[in-house]
Parts: sequence; C-alpha cells; structure tokens
Amino acid sequence: MRIKKFRCIRCGGPKVNPYSTPYIMCDFCGSFTDVDFAVGIETWTQDQATTLKYQARKLELMEKSQAAVAFGDREKYSQFQREFWDMYYRTFPAYLPPTIDTTQKYALYIEVCVASSLDSGFDPRWQQYAAHQQMLQNSIRYVIVNGQTKAETTSFFALVDFFVRTTREGMRAFYEDPRYAIMHELLPEAVHFKMKTSMFVQAWLPYLTDADADRFLKMLGFSNEYEEIERPPGETVECETCKTLLFAPEGSYKIFCEKCRRTTQVKAQFFCMSCGSPNDVSENPAKPIECVGCGVANRVVHPYFGR
Ligand SMILES: [Zn+2]
Ligand SMILES: [Zn+2]
Ligand SMILES: [Zn+2]
Repeated sequence: MRIKKFRCIRCGGPKVNPYSTPYIMCDFCGSFTDVDFAVGIETWTQDQATTLKYQARKLELMEKSQAAVAFGDREKYSQFQREFWDMYYRTFPAYLPPTIDTTQKYALYIEVCVASSLDSGFDPRWQQYAAHQQMLQNSIRYVIVNGQTKAETTSFFALVDFFVRTTREGMRAFYEDPRYAIMHELLPEAVHFKMKTSMFVQAWLPYLTDADADRFLKMLGFSNEYEEIERPPGETVECETCKTLLFAPEGSYKIFCEKCRRTTQVKAQFFCMSCGSPNDVSENPAKPIECVGCGVANRVVHPYFGR
C-alpha cells in the first residue's frame, strides 16, 4: 500500500494505520508523534461557513486583546485569550492534541495556551517580532506563473526564515519554563512546533511554486513523501474504552483509537532480553524499561517494517 511517510520520534515505528485527524499517533508505542498538514487543510476547508464564522470571531477577540494590551490590562487580556482558545478548539475539535483526553487536561491545556499568549502579548520583544514579521509579509512580491499568482522566492523565504527562527526561540523559552513542565508529556516540543507552523503552511502553500513548496515543507519538517509498504502482519484488538476494533501491527505495544481518542494496551508484559524474567510494560513503551529481575534496560518496541 502507498502511504505517507511518518516515523515515530520516540520509537522509530512507521505509521501503518489510516487516520482522519491531522495528528499522527504511533501504531507501535501510542505516542503523539507528528502532524499531517494536508489533513489539517481538509479540516479547515471542510465547511466554509464555520471557518468564516470562526475567522470573524477570532478577529474580534484579537482586536479586544490588543486593546487590553494597550490599556495594560492583563486580566481582560487573559479573559479574551481564554475565550479565543476555547472557541478555536470547540470549532475545530480535530485540532485538539489527542493527548488532551479528559476535561481536566483540557482546562489545564487552555490555561497553558492563555499563559503563553499572555507572556508574548505583553513582551515588547515579541511585539517587535510581530511588527517585523508583518513588514516582511508586506514586502513579498508576487509573480504570475502559468496564469497563477505566486509569491516570489527570495522575499517569501525571508519571511519564512524569520518566522522559523522566532517560533523556535519562543518554543525553547516555553519548554524550558518549569510552569509548563506538563507540556513535555502532553505535547512534545517537536510536535508542538509543527502544530504552530502548520497553520502558516496552510496559508502559504497555495501561493508557492512546486519547487518552493518542496523547500518550504522540508524546512519545517513536514513530510510530503509517500512510500510503498507491505501491509504488515498484526492482530485485531478491541479498544479498551469504546470497543471499536483496531488493527495492531506486529511489534505494537499501544494503539490509539480515533473514535474515543484513548490508547489501548496491546501487550501488558514482555520478557527481559537478558534474563528472561517477565516484566510489566510501562505507560510509555517507547522508553527503555529496566528489568525487575536483573536491572538491564530493555527497549521493548521493535517496529515490524519492510521484511
Ligand atoms: Zn512510537
Ligand atoms: Zn475507542
Ligand atoms: Zn532481566
């Protein structure tokens, strides 16, 4: 079968199951591991009325937020941001990270979004960055290629370079901040970076020539490659939560159910490669597990691939 090429950032496993949300969950260790911008675009364009309504509401809340910044009113600013993030994820539930699977985690996640917007909203350096980005965007020249309007390469990549650099800088600061420690588990930095940049990709892709689109996607780490793989052997398991039937490829320890957004354990035990003792599989099977018998660290996930 021909599938889009994804490799898990935690265990190296390939994506083998079909998916309908923009987020890629590993079929071997159950980790949230990547973003497919193309599915993101489908979600975005699925229903024009919804998207237009969202954009109008967003504009309104962003204007109110800007006014709150001008008045130095952090409380009002937080309130508008909370309303925005909640509206965003309620409008596009497919964009909610799959790791956010309880109301408590949702509330926590929204507060993290608010706190992070607050940090940058009132920081003069970030205001400067935003102004500079706007300037670069306004200086993009356009050319007509085969009757279509395309962004000119040099001026477009000047914007991309700046956007990537400042987004990475913001991410770094965010993940080093102990207040957001929970995010390492809920949303790995590399995946968060892709979430942030995929909106940018969606907006610009239609204005790029094929060569520029290729370069752009590579720079941001988005896969646009397909590969031919054999359907791997495996077994059908029942979702622990909603009983939907799921396909677990050979070598899988944890599998994600798109229907109820929960993971199901495929194997509860493994035998130590050194002493043979039985061991329980941990919450995150991608991490090496120390044997209870001899202490040797076992890497349990060995994805089946291309045999
Ligand atoms: Zn994995
Ligand atoms: Zn389920
Ligand atoms: Zn052992």
